Amino acid sequence: MFESVSAAPPDAILGLTDAYKADPNPEKINLGVGVYQDEQGRTPVLGTVRAAAARLAADLASKSYLPITGSADYAEAVQKLMFGDQDEIPRSRRAVTAHTPGGTGALRVTADFIRQNFADATVWMSQPTWANHPAVFAAAGVPTKTYPYFDKASNGLNFEEMIAALKKIPEGDVVLLHGCCHNPTGIDPTAEQWAEIAKTLRTVGALPLIDFAYQGFGEGVKEDTAGLQAFCRPGEELIVCSSFSKNFGLYRERVGAATFVAADQDSMLRVASQVKRAIRSNYSNPPSHGAELVVTILQDAKLRKQWEGEVAEMRDRINGMRTLLVEKLAEHGAPGDFEFIKRQKGMFSFSGLTPDQVERLKNDYAIYIVGSGRINVAGITPSNVDRLAKSMADVLKG
Ligand code: PMP
Repeated sequence: MFESVSAAPPDAILGLTDAYKADPNPEKINLGVGVYQDEQGRTPVLGTVRAAAARLAADLASKSYLPITGSADYAEAVQKLMFGDQDEIPRSRRAVTAHTPGGTGALRVTADFIRQNFADATVWMSQPTWANHPAVFAAAGVPTKTYPYFDKASNGLNFEEMIAALKKIPEGDVVLLHGCCHNPTGIDPTAEQWAEIAKTLRTVGALPLIDFAYQGFGEGVKEDTAGLQAFCRPGEELIVCSSFSKNFGLYRERVGAATFVAADQDSMLRVASQVKRAIRSNYSNPPSHGAELVVTILQDAKLRKQWEGEVAEMRDRINGMRTLLVEKLAEHGAPGDFEFIKRQKGMFSFSGLTPDQVERLKNDYAIYIVGSGRINVAGITPSNVDRLAKSMADVLKG
């Protein structure tokens, strides 16, 4: 039977890593896949993760199955982390949190839940968005559409057109928003804009779905919840898909969460039963190690403080590289104003490079960037920034 199977195209982003690995050029630079790297280009295991792993290894309690939605300790820790001092939702017990395999797992569980309970709902996503967003919802059979987001002229948010589009969304549809550090643009709404987005969704009767994959990479662990907070009002519903791949450096442990906030506890219990059903037929129950690491760190005041320091260190390094790249681009006479790179938040920068320029950087300079022009700023280091800026300046000059 397999002779009739045609080859699928390689994943646009992960395929780029394969091409990078195969490139013999010793000066090659990988700015593709969204993984944090330190100044030496390594993706380190955080000190707090090492400490938590040692504790867990000394006290291996059981490897029996977890409940379908994971452990209660994890759910509590995740809710505390994202709702912070605004604890009306945890106190009212109107949210259910399921531990999922990564943020991608959270999105897929959400997609299955939407398909099974709101068969007519469309999920609206920003133009552009993370490439896997439409793919995950399509795989679950959920239709998707886009709303305007990026304004090429200003390298900023096209807020007017975004709001105008959101105002036309039919009642009962779902609107996917990036909680902070928008991937791929690095452009987030301001506090006032978040308030207006929340008000608009409330008015049209659309369900907010917040993808929260970079908490702590924008302004700070607490500060980055500002967008999410705009949707946290008594009696209001929302879904949050969290990922701890980046902020805990737990990429391969696959640790994330899907949190469904209902209007009241009664609705939450019914929603929880449907979430369990979606998970049971998908992966049955979650892996435990990554979640145990997260719980150990968040429950211990000293480790928690140390972890916030580690997140700040990653954030500060990325922001330092933004500033340095802008300086170096000017030094090498790159045509245009690149100040916008400093304003972008999180791991990514939408550089404005065209697909042709991206191709030239790969073929002529061994610099690997996603076709959309998205640069993983965390892949820039003090030792490669000069070559990167000079090469970018070269291709920008034509
Ligand atoms: N959402 C966004 C916006 C992301 O960028 C990513 C990771 N690239 C994810 C979700 C999924 O993260 P995970 O690796 O935890 O599945």
